[in-house]
Amino acid sequence: MSTLLILGGTAQARRLADSLAEQPFTVVSSLAGRTSSARLPAGEVISGGFGGASGLAAFLKERSIAAVVNATHPFSTQMSNNAVIACQEAKVPLLRFTRPSWREHSGAASWTWVADHQQAATVAANRADGGVVALTVGRQELPAYVESLRQHQVLARVTELTDDIAVQLPNRWQIIENKGPFSADDEREFLQGTSVMVTKDSGGCETAAKLTVADELGIPVIVVSRPQSPAEVATVTTSAQAMQWVLQQLS
Ligand code: NAP
Repeated sequence: MSTLLILGGTAQARRLADSLAEQPFTVVSSLAGRTSSARLPAGEVISGGFGGASGLAAFLKERSIAAVVNATHPFSTQMSNNAVIACQEAKVPLLRFTRPSWREHSGAASWTWVADHQQAATVAANRADGGVVALTVGRQELPAYVESLRQHQVLARVTELTDDIAVQLPNRWQIIENKGPFSADDEREFLQGTSVMVTKDSGGCETAAKLTVADELGIPVIVVSRPQSPAEVATVTTSAQAMQWVLQQLS
């Protein structure tokens, strides 16, 4: 039986695996293994990484993988680059399945777009005006904000805080551990009383309520732009397109 590999760790990856459960091929979903409470997709699940591009290429050959869908987060550049190299080496077709960028969001023109987290931290420090900076950038990125925001009031929301990150953060920062999806009411509660919000262009609908609520409350939004993705990879942004590609490759 043919085997599809989905590089996951996102809701759209999980839903794709779930929707392929009845197909006459094996679906293996791979997770980085960083979140202890991850909701698991249907089918076989592996976790913990491959050991770089060469490790992934070896896995593709060993398991005779017929096609790979890279459905990792838009900011997962390392895994995405590894997938391109490994699939070229193992001669396996690769699809990038990612959420549509928030550049197309109705509020996008009013937000401050920056190139990276260092720049976001500097802009946030200037815009905070003595108030609270709300950070929704993911736990791994928090250390990039410490230098600029050490003396500021910061309210950071992460799915799960790990000790290696926690020790790098100022004691005065307030960290909320909470797993989405978040409704508009959740976001109103989170953002009420903050002066500026920083996020990254994760895109799609699932985490977009905070943007609508920030606009509604008049809170300035700073958005870190997406990293460049390898241009040569076929890319889709909807489940239907991803499904169609998979069925073409494995039928
Ligand atoms: P990354 O920087 O692109 O990758 C770092 C390393 O983590 C990779 O070299 C790989 O290790 C391992 N890895 C990443 N994704 C993997 C996967 N799906 N399966 C197996 N190994 C994986 O990744 P990241 O941005 O830290 O993201 C890690 C995971 O969290 C991804 O699955 C991503 O979808 C999910 N996630 C990330 C974000 C975010 O903001 N970055 C947000 C939500 C969810 P090896 O080299 O050993 O193979």
